[in-house]
Amino acid sequence: DNPIRRKPAWIRVKAPTHPVYHETRALMREQRLVTVCEEAACPNIGECWSQRHATMMIMGDVCTRACSFCNVATGLPRALDPDEPRRVGEAVARLGLRHVVVTSVDRDDLPDGGAAHFARTIRAIRAAAPGTTVEVLTPDFLRKDGALEVVVEARPDVFNHNLETVPRLYPTIRPGARYYHSLRLLDRAKQLDPALFTKSGLMVGFGESRTEVLQVMDDLRSAGVDFLTIGQYLQPTVKHAAVDRFVAPEEFEDYARLARAKGFLLVSATPLTRSSYHADRDFAALRAA
Ligand code: SF4
Ligand code: SF4
Repeated sequence: DNPIRRKPAWIRVKAPTHPVYHETRALMREQRLVTVCEEAACPNIGECWSQRHATMMIMGDVCTRACSFCNVATGLPRALDPDEPRRVGEAVARLGLRHVVVTSVDRDDLPDGGAAHFARTIRAIRAAAPGTTVEVLTPDFLRKDGALEVVVEARPDVFNHNLETVPRLYPTIRPGARYYHSLRLLDRAKQLDPALFTKSGLMVGFGESRTEVLQVMDDLRSAGVDFLTIGQYLQPTVKHAAVDRFVAPEEFEDYARLARAKGFLLVSATPLTRSSYHADRDFAALRAA
Protein backbone atom coordinates (compact mmCIF):
# COMPACT_ATOMS: atom_id res chain seq x y z
CA ASP A 1 0.00 0.00 0.00
CA ASN A 2 1.06 3.59 -0.65
CA PRO A 3 0.39 5.94 2.26
CA ILE A 4 -1.44 9.11 1.22
CA ARG A 5 0.68 12.22 1.61
CA ARG A 6 -0.64 15.31 3.33
CA LYS A 7 -1.74 17.89 0.80
CA PRO A 8 -0.04 21.28 0.69
CA ALA A 9 -2.04 24.40 1.60
CA TRP A 10 -2.70 25.29 -2.04
CA ILE A 11 -4.67 22.07 -2.64
CA ARG A 12 -7.31 22.60 0.07
CA VAL A 13 -10.86 22.75 -1.25
CA LYS A 14 -14.09 23.94 0.30
CA ALA A 15 -16.80 21.50 1.38
CA PRO A 16 -19.88 21.61 -0.87
CA THR A 17 -22.62 23.55 0.90
CA HIS A 18 -24.23 25.64 -1.85
CA PRO A 19 -27.95 24.86 -2.45
CA VAL A 20 -27.38 24.49 -6.21
CA TYR A 21 -24.84 21.74 -5.46
CA HIS A 22 -27.67 19.72 -3.90
CA GLU A 23 -30.00 20.44 -6.83
CA THR A 24 -27.37 19.18 -9.28
CA ARG A 25 -26.85 16.06 -7.18
CA ALA A 26 -30.60 15.39 -6.98
CA LEU A 27 -30.98 15.68 -10.77
CA MET A 28 -28.11 13.23 -11.37
CA ARG A 29 -29.79 10.73 -9.03
CA GLU A 30 -33.22 11.23 -10.57
CA GLN A 31 -31.86 10.66 -14.09
CA ARG A 32 -29.72 7.74 -12.84
CA LEU A 33 -26.61 9.31 -14.30
CA VAL A 34 -23.04 8.59 -13.33
CA THR A 35 -20.63 11.52 -13.09
CA VAL A 36 -16.86 11.53 -13.21
CA CYS A 37 -17.05 14.28 -10.61
CA GLU A 38 -18.17 11.70 -8.05
CA GLU A 39 -16.49 8.58 -9.43
CA ALA A 40 -13.09 10.26 -9.58
CA ALA A 41 -13.67 11.93 -6.18
CA CYS A 42 -12.88 15.23 -7.86
CA PRO A 43 -11.78 17.98 -5.47
CA ASN A 44 -13.68 20.63 -7.47
CA ILE A 45 -17.14 19.13 -7.06
CA GLY A 46 -18.31 21.79 -4.60
CA GLU A 47 -17.38 24.60 -6.95
CA CYS A 48 -18.49 22.96 -10.21
CA TRP A 49 -21.82 21.57 -9.05
CA SER A 50 -22.72 24.86 -7.40
CA GLN A 51 -22.64 26.21 -10.96
CA ARG A 52 -24.51 23.16 -12.36
CA HIS A 53 -21.34 22.10 -14.20
CA ALA A 54 -21.34 18.30 -13.98
CA THR A 55 -19.41 15.94 -16.25
CA MET A 56 -21.48 12.92 -17.18
CA MET A 57 -19.79 9.53 -17.41
CA ILE A 58 -21.66 7.23 -19.77
CA MET A 59 -21.61 3.45 -20.27
CA GLY A 60 -21.55 2.58 -16.56
CA ASP A 61 -19.30 2.92 -13.56
CA VAL A 62 -17.13 -0.16 -14.14
CA CYS A 63 -14.09 0.10 -16.44
CA THR A 64 -12.24 -2.60 -18.38
CA ARG A 65 -8.91 -0.85 -17.69
CA ALA A 66 -7.05 -0.35 -14.42
CA CYS A 67 -5.06 2.87 -14.61
CA SER A 68 -3.09 3.21 -11.39
CA PHE A 69 -4.23 6.79 -10.72
CA CYS A 70 -7.95 6.24 -11.29
CA ASN A 71 -10.67 5.76 -8.69
CA VAL A 72 -13.13 4.07 -11.08
CA ALA A 73 -13.78 0.37 -10.37
CA THR A 74 -12.26 -2.22 -12.74
CA GLY A 75 -14.17 -5.29 -13.86
CA LEU A 76 -16.61 -6.59 -16.43
CA PRO A 77 -19.10 -3.80 -17.14
CA ARG A 78 -22.85 -4.31 -17.56
CA ALA A 79 -24.69 -4.11 -20.89
CA LEU A 80 -25.22 -0.62 -22.30
CA ASP A 81 -28.41 1.18 -21.30
CA PRO A 82 -30.08 2.25 -24.57
CA ASP A 83 -32.06 4.95 -22.75
CA GLU A 84 -28.99 6.62 -21.26
CA PRO A 85 -28.36 9.05 -24.17
CA ARG A 86 -31.90 10.43 -23.81
CA ARG A 87 -31.47 10.92 -20.04
CA VAL A 88 -28.15 12.70 -20.58
CA GLY A 89 -29.85 15.02 -23.08
CA GLU A 90 -32.65 15.74 -20.66
CA ALA A 91 -30.26 16.44 -17.80
CA VAL A 92 -28.22 18.83 -19.97
CA ALA A 93 -31.42 20.68 -20.94
CA ARG A 94 -32.64 20.89 -17.36
CA LEU A 95 -29.28 22.07 -16.05
CA GLY A 96 -29.34 24.76 -18.75
CA LEU A 97 -25.71 24.14 -19.64
CA ARG A 98 -24.03 26.23 -22.33
CA HIS A 99 -21.28 23.61 -22.61
CA VAL A 100 -21.25 20.00 -21.49
CA VAL A 101 -18.45 17.48 -21.13
CA VAL A 102 -19.38 13.82 -21.59
CA THR A 103 -16.86 11.14 -20.77
CA SER A 104 -17.01 7.38 -20.24
CA VAL A 105 -15.33 4.39 -18.80
CA ASP A 106 -13.22 2.36 -21.21
CA ARG A 107 -15.24 -0.42 -22.83
CA ASP A 108 -12.74 -2.85 -24.36
CA ASP A 109 -15.52 -5.47 -24.08
CA LEU A 110 -17.64 -3.80 -26.80
CA PRO A 111 -16.81 -4.35 -30.49
CA ASP A 112 -16.82 -0.58 -31.16
CA GLY A 113 -15.49 0.45 -27.75
CA GLY A 114 -18.76 2.33 -27.17
CA ALA A 115 -18.34 4.72 -30.12
CA ALA A 116 -21.95 4.38 -31.30
CA HIS A 117 -23.22 5.07 -27.78
CA PHE A 118 -21.11 8.23 -27.69
CA ALA A 119 -22.55 9.27 -31.06
CA ARG A 120 -26.12 8.62 -29.86
CA THR A 121 -25.44 10.69 -26.75
CA ILE A 122 -24.10 13.62 -28.78
CA ARG A 123 -27.20 13.53 -30.99
CA ALA A 124 -29.53 13.27 -27.98
CA ILE A 125 -27.92 16.36 -26.44
CA ARG A 126 -28.25 18.24 -29.75
CA ALA A 127 -31.96 17.33 -29.87
CA ALA A 128 -32.71 18.25 -26.25
CA ALA A 129 -30.42 21.27 -25.89
CA PRO A 130 -29.57 22.68 -29.34
CA GLY A 131 -27.74 25.70 -27.91
CA THR A 132 -25.31 23.68 -25.81
CA THR A 133 -21.81 23.01 -27.08
CA VAL A 134 -20.68 19.41 -26.63
CA GLU A 135 -17.27 18.16 -25.58
CA VAL A 136 -16.54 14.44 -25.56
CA LEU A 137 -13.68 13.04 -23.51
CA THR A 138 -13.25 9.59 -24.99
CA PRO A 139 -11.30 6.40 -24.34
CA ASP A 140 -8.46 5.57 -26.72
CA PHE A 141 -10.45 3.06 -28.85
CA LEU A 142 -7.35 0.86 -29.01
CA ARG A 143 -7.87 -1.93 -31.58
CA LYS A 144 -11.38 -0.60 -32.42
CA ASP A 145 -11.10 0.21 -36.11
CA GLY A 146 -13.64 2.76 -37.30
CA ALA A 147 -14.68 3.81 -33.77
CA LEU A 148 -13.13 7.26 -33.88
CA GLU A 149 -14.86 7.98 -37.20
CA VAL A 150 -18.27 7.19 -35.66
CA VAL A 151 -17.70 9.69 -32.84
CA VAL A 152 -16.35 12.44 -35.11
CA GLU A 153 -19.25 12.00 -37.57
CA ALA A 154 -21.65 12.92 -34.75
CA ARG A 155 -20.01 16.39 -34.80
CA PRO A 156 -19.03 17.20 -31.21
CA ASP A 157 -17.62 20.72 -30.78
CA VAL A 158 -14.58 19.51 -28.84
CA PHE A 159 -12.86 16.12 -29.05
CA ASN A 160 -10.88 15.51 -25.88
CA HIS A 161 -8.63 12.57 -25.12
CA ASN A 162 -6.14 12.72 -22.28
CA LEU A 163 -2.56 11.53 -22.60
CA GLU A 164 -2.52 11.64 -18.76
CA THR A 165 1.26 11.32 -18.36
CA VAL A 166 4.59 11.31 -20.18
CA PRO A 167 5.47 8.25 -22.33
CA ARG A 168 8.14 6.92 -19.94
CA LEU A 169 5.56 6.45 -17.18
CA TYR A 170 2.90 4.68 -19.26
CA PRO A 171 3.79 1.12 -18.13
CA THR A 172 3.17 1.97 -14.48
CA ILE A 173 0.55 4.74 -14.67
CA ARG A 174 -1.48 3.88 -17.74
CA PRO A 175 -0.90 0.19 -18.47
CA GLY A 176 -3.13 -1.04 -21.26
CA ALA A 177 -2.77 2.24 -23.16
CA ARG A 178 -0.13 3.29 -25.69
CA TYR A 179 1.23 6.85 -25.78
CA TYR A 180 1.67 7.04 -29.54
CA HIS A 181 -1.70 5.44 -30.19
CA SER A 182 -3.39 8.15 -28.08
CA LEU A 183 -1.41 10.86 -29.84
CA ARG A 184 -2.40 9.48 -33.24
CA LEU A 185 -6.06 9.36 -32.16
CA LEU A 186 -5.96 13.12 -31.55
CA ASP A 187 -4.15 13.71 -34.81
CA ARG A 188 -6.67 11.63 -36.77
CA ALA A 189 -9.66 13.34 -35.13
CA LYS A 190 -8.36 16.67 -36.39
CA GLN A 191 -7.72 15.30 -39.86
CA LEU A 192 -11.21 13.79 -40.07
CA ASP A 193 -12.82 17.13 -39.16
CA PRO A 194 -10.52 20.15 -39.22
CA ALA A 195 -13.33 22.31 -37.75
CA LEU A 196 -13.27 20.22 -34.58
CA PHE A 197 -11.36 21.59 -31.59
CA THR A 198 -9.11 18.94 -30.09
CA LYS A 199 -7.99 18.85 -26.49
CA SER A 200 -5.78 16.78 -24.22
CA GLY A 201 -4.54 16.77 -20.67
CA LEU A 202 -1.84 15.62 -18.32
CA MET A 203 -1.55 15.06 -14.64
CA VAL A 204 1.73 15.98 -13.00
CA GLY A 205 3.28 14.80 -9.76
CA PHE A 206 3.93 11.21 -10.93
CA GLY A 207 7.69 11.72 -11.25
CA GLU A 208 7.84 13.26 -14.71
CA SER A 209 10.48 15.90 -15.48
CA ARG A 210 9.86 19.38 -16.85
CA THR A 211 11.66 18.41 -20.06
CA GLU A 212 9.34 15.45 -20.51
CA VAL A 213 6.26 17.66 -20.02
CA LEU A 214 7.55 20.13 -22.61
CA GLN A 215 8.14 17.23 -25.02
CA VAL A 216 4.52 16.11 -24.58
CA MET A 217 3.38 19.66 -25.33
CA ASP A 218 5.43 19.60 -28.55
CA ASP A 219 3.99 16.20 -29.49
CA LEU A 220 0.46 17.52 -28.96
CA ARG A 221 1.08 20.62 -31.02
CA SER A 222 2.51 18.42 -33.80
CA ALA A 223 -0.77 16.49 -33.68
CA GLY A 224 -2.66 19.78 -34.09
CA VAL A 225 -4.16 19.74 -30.58
CA ASP A 226 -5.80 23.06 -29.65
CA PHE A 227 -6.46 22.94 -25.90
CA LEU A 228 -4.34 21.69 -23.01
CA THR A 229 -5.06 20.98 -19.34
CA ILE A 230 -2.45 20.19 -16.69
CA GLY A 231 -3.33 19.43 -13.07
CA GLN A 232 -1.83 17.90 -9.95
CA TYR A 233 -2.34 14.16 -9.46
CA LEU A 234 -4.02 13.38 -6.15
CA GLN A 235 -3.91 9.82 -4.85
CA PRO A 236 -7.47 8.55 -4.28
CA THR A 237 -6.69 5.61 -1.96
CA VAL A 238 -3.71 3.67 -0.59
CA LYS A 239 -4.17 1.16 -3.45
CA HIS A 240 -3.37 3.82 -6.07
CA ALA A 241 -0.09 5.21 -7.37
CA ALA A 242 1.73 7.41 -4.86
CA VAL A 243 2.15 11.14 -5.42
CA ASP A 244 5.82 11.66 -6.23
CA ARG A 245 5.61 15.35 -5.41
CA PHE A 246 3.25 18.31 -5.24
CA VAL A 247 4.10 20.62 -8.12
CA ALA A 248 4.27 24.23 -6.93
CA PRO A 249 1.77 26.81 -8.26
CA GLU A 250 4.65 28.74 -9.88
CA GLU A 251 5.64 25.66 -11.88
CA PHE A 252 2.07 25.41 -13.17
CA GLU A 253 2.27 29.07 -14.19
CA ASP A 254 5.49 28.30 -16.02
CA TYR A 255 3.80 25.38 -17.85
CA ALA A 256 0.82 27.59 -18.76
CA ARG A 257 3.07 30.33 -20.14
CA LEU A 258 5.11 27.87 -22.20
CA ALA A 259 1.99 26.10 -23.50
CA ARG A 260 0.53 29.40 -24.72
CA ALA A 261 3.84 30.25 -26.36
CA LYS A 262 3.76 26.89 -28.17
CA GLY A 263 0.40 27.84 -29.68
CA PHE A 264 -2.31 26.14 -27.62
CA LEU A 265 -5.50 28.22 -27.91
CA LEU A 266 -6.82 27.35 -24.44
CA VAL A 267 -4.61 26.38 -21.55
CA SER A 268 -5.55 25.51 -18.00
CA ALA A 269 -2.61 24.60 -15.80
CA THR A 270 -3.17 24.92 -12.06
CA PRO A 271 -2.95 22.43 -9.18
CA LEU A 272 -6.73 21.84 -9.25
CA THR A 273 -7.15 21.80 -13.02
CA ARG A 274 -9.01 18.73 -14.24
CA SER A 275 -9.86 17.85 -17.80
CA SER A 276 -13.34 19.37 -17.48
CA TYR A 277 -12.54 22.13 -14.98
CA HIS A 278 -13.90 25.49 -16.21
CA ALA A 279 -14.37 23.89 -19.66
CA ASP A 280 -17.68 25.74 -20.02
CA ARG A 281 -16.27 29.12 -19.10
CA ASP A 282 -13.09 28.77 -21.16
CA PHE A 283 -14.84 27.52 -24.29
CA ALA A 284 -17.47 30.28 -24.10
CA ALA A 285 -14.71 32.87 -23.81
CA LEU A 286 -12.93 31.43 -26.83
CA ARG A 287 -16.09 31.48 -28.93
CA ALA A 288 -16.82 35.07 -27.91
CA ALA A 289 -13.29 36.19 -28.81
FE1 SF4 B 1 -16.63 17.42 -12.33
FE2 SF4 B 1 -14.67 18.26 -13.93
FE3 SF4 B 1 -15.66 19.89 -12.08
FE4 SF4 B 1 -14.20 17.84 -11.35
S1 SF4 B 1 -13.49 19.58 -12.54
S2 SF4 B 1 -16.13 18.44 -10.41
S3 SF4 B 1 -14.79 16.29 -12.86
S4 SF4 B 1 -16.76 19.07 -13.84
FE1 SF4 C 1 -10.09 5.22 -15.14
FE2 SF4 C 1 -10.33 5.89 -17.71
FE3 SF4 C 1 -8.27 4.35 -16.89
FE4 SF4 C 1 -10.78 3.41 -16.91
S1 SF4 C 1 -9.55 4.02 -18.70
S2 SF4 C 1 -9.28 3.12 -15.26
S3 SF4 C 1 -11.97 5.21 -16.33
S4 SF4 C 1 -8.66 6.50 -16.36
